[in-house]
Amino acid sequence: MSHYQSIIEPFALTHVRIVTGDESGTVLNNMTILVDASGRIEQVAPSVEASVPDEYHRLDGTGKTVMPGLINAHTHLFSQGKPLNPKLATPRGQRIVSKLVHSPIGVPYMAATVRHNAQTLLDSGVTTIRTLGDVGYEVVALRDRIAAGEVPGPRILASGPLLAIPEGHGAPLIALTSSTPEGARECVARNIAHGVNAIKIAATGGVTDAQKVGEAGSPQMSVEQMRAICDEAHEHGIIVGAHAQSAEGVRRALKAGVDTIEHGSELDDELIGLFRHNPNSLRGYSALVPTLSAGLPLTMIDQKTTGITDIQLENSKTVVSGMVNGARQAHEAGLTVGLGTDTGMTFVPQYATWRELVLLVRFAGFTPAQAIHAATQVNARILGVDDVTGSLSVGKSADLLVLDGDPLKDLRALEQPALVVAAGRPVFRPTVERFPKIDELLDGVCA
Ligand SMILES: [Zn+2]
Repeated sequence: MSHYQSIIEPFALTHVRIVTGDESGTVLNNMTILVDASGRIEQVAPSVEASVPDEYHRLDGTGKTVMPGLINAHTHLFSQGKPLNPKLATPRGQRIVSKLVHSPIGVPYMAATVRHNAQTLLDSGVTTIRTLGDVGYEVVALRDRIAAGEVPGPRILASGPLLAIPEGHGAPLIALTSSTPEGARECVARNIAHGVNAIKIAATGGVTDAQKVGEAGSPQMSVEQMRAICDEAHEHGIIVGAHAQSAEGVRRALKAGVDTIEHGSELDDELIGLFRHNPNSLRGYSALVPTLSAGLPLTMIDQKTTGITDIQLENSKTVVSGMVNGARQAHEAGLTVGLGTDTGMTFVPQYATWRELVLLVRFAGFTPAQAIHAATQVNARILGVDDVTGSLSVGKSADLLVLDGDPLKDLRALEQPALVVAAGRPVFRPTVERFPKIDELLDGVCA
């Protein structure tokens, strides 16, 4: 367990090198950052100009690099990221697990699980997350406890269960199902009544639970149903993310008005145009959140080792090539591209957000600075929290990382921050429980 203090004590980080997180990779040398008792950034100034009040703790950051905390826009907290048993992903398996997690034993178990996984994300340098598919409303409850300073964790935008068609992707384990626009609207209303601040749609099938080749990516929900979901969510100022893994699935979801496409596919001119200008979205444009961490390794690691089924492997190959191409095309076209990993899925540990930055550089044409930018400022804008986080600006929440190395030179410097500060609360010498075998395999494909 890492140390945690719920009461915020003002402090100064002195003599640090700042990586601002802008697109061009701006670095500011010998800076001092003041964090006030409300957990906000009070001052960012050259150390020679900064005056540190006597009552402030002083942390000498000589030789260290400070940057904004990472934001992961696509997470699940119900599992750790070890290989999921393919048997449990069948409709029957999901029904059994679903019963279990809603049982008197399952509910507290799930509450403890999501709390543990949220803390792992924090200890790995992630200070804001959006979940996109929870078992119930356990993450909503956790979000409020973290915000109140009762338990450590990142700022959370919580989706609750995602919205799918009957037998669709995610159902029944992490989804509410409906087959009409009215039914879909009721599902949104139910989630909002439970306090969610994110909505997720399964627009197409997915790799994890597809039972035949071609099911991942095949459109599932109608445009009318998705439109009803978007309208209801947007009325409450809530953005909608859609799992979409084929061009047709992406097209339908964008036309319905979703704000983020999760995973994505190969793009054409119509799709690029719809991302750029989407009249049915909340803000007039839509963003892409590729999750290269989920899927790409599965296609590169030996099937005997991953333990995935032939169907999962075939579906992975198709959706991964579409997703990788789409990420590169979107980046080249200057679309808004955020960063998410799909934590909790097979081979996506909660502590491995940094690997997605590496993958964006290696496979989608990002520079390290652009990857850091996507994981901080761009994600903050996409999630609508750019007024409180995403950059080291005066007045924003003190969400920052202190690193031993330089992430612009080597993104691996992000793997284990020396200090994580979330909403002004420091976590000194954070550590996470690693899965060495998985790390070794991932190092082989994306070190
Ligand atoms: Zn997901």
